[in-house]
Amino acid sequence: MNYIRTRCLMCGKIEDVGEDHQDYSKLIDPQKPSAFICDMCRNRVRYESDEQRKPKKPI
Ligand SMILES: [Zn+2]
Repeated sequence: MNYIRTRCLMCGKIEDVGEDHQDYSKLIDPQKPSAFICDMCRNRVRYESDEQRKPKKPI
């Protein structure tokens, strides 16, 4: 399997992304460079946006 070494945009962690990763084809495409965000940061972003989507309780 092929890997590409990339760096997480948010935490700076260096990761080897395998070709079975959903972002691999985007990461190797020089025409469309895309930012890589590691699973840990991705989960955190998803969690935070879920929190923001919840309706605020009236005080
Ligand atoms: Zn990260």
